[in-house]
Amino acid sequence: MGKITLAIHGGAGTILKANHTDELEQNYTAGLQEALDAGYRLLENGKSSIEAIEASIKSMEDNVLFNAGRGAVFTKKGLNEMDAAIMEGKYLEAGAVTGVRNIKNPVSLARKVLEKSGHVMLSGNGAKDFALQEGVEQAPDDYFFSKYRYDQWVEIRDTDFYQLDHKEDNLKHYDKKFGTVGAVAVDQNGNVAAATSTGGMTNKRFGRIGDSPIFGAGTYANNKTCAISCTGHGEFFIRANVAYDISCLMEYKGLSLNEACNEVIHSKLKAFGGEGGLIAVDQNGNHELCFNSKGMYRAFKNSDGESSLAMFGE
Ligand code: ASP
Repeated sequence: MGKITLAIHGGAGTILKANHTDELEQNYTAGLQEALDAGYRLLENGKSSIEAIEASIKSMEDNVLFNAGRGAVFTKKGLNEMDAAIMEGKYLEAGAVTGVRNIKNPVSLARKVLEKSGHVMLSGNGAKDFALQEGVEQAPDDYFFSKYRYDQWVEIRDTDFYQLDHKEDNLKHYDKKFGTVGAVAVDQNGNVAAATSTGGMTNKRFGRIGDSPIFGAGTYANNKTCAISCTGHGEFFIRANVAYDISCLMEYKGLSLNEACNEVIHSKLKAFGGEGGLIAVDQNGNHELCFNSKGMYRAFKNSDGESSLAMFGE
């Protein structure tokens, strides 16, 4: 029986202790712990990595604190449009949905895409038809309403800014905090899997899709190398092919998980102007929680008895 490991993130960005009341910090701690426990319990009971990561992601999608599912941000038109992806590393099977509305748990719809659609990625109304066909749980618009996200949107809805505008002089409009959620795991059989779910960016326009549902950019899994879920400024992660780049450095250049993650996040992506981070595991149960932003909501646990939960930079 191999070593099991689960890692999760709840987004990266300008996550500073100074911006967190004690209560908020406690709420994030509780939310991350709950999500970690939900997935790890399954791994311990011999379930697959894909089941474990779905459980962890669902827990965060149901928690209004995170920008995914219930807590998804608002688009320019005041809607909640979500992206999600899930991939397993044994057969490289994958499923993703983009720009979906009124789906309670987009990660579960992504898993249905993987298992039942015969396709890899479904978008918007088509994804919704598929969800109806498969009996995937829907939720009304007001389920996705939160005052915090609404106020964030109201502040910038009459501008062309979107929430990930990084220029310092735009800080008024942008708190540089990404709230996407992700999970990666390796199970007792040595199979890895990765999933990511997000509301994208506040005030996003024109059906914008981020890196999260794009395999090789924000999400990727391959038993030969690793499973990865990213968070950060999606446009950069897409252009830099972050997740697949790390996998390639391991597969073709023989880098370790640690070396490959550091190379891409701290050298390549940073030089490119991209901010954010990722979580990753390999078949041997090694894990990485790697970011070039001020902080990242993150946690991990493994069967060597190791675990951690943190938000801020060292
Ligand atoms: N990467 C996500 C996106 O660009 C945002 C995030 O990580 O919070 O849609």
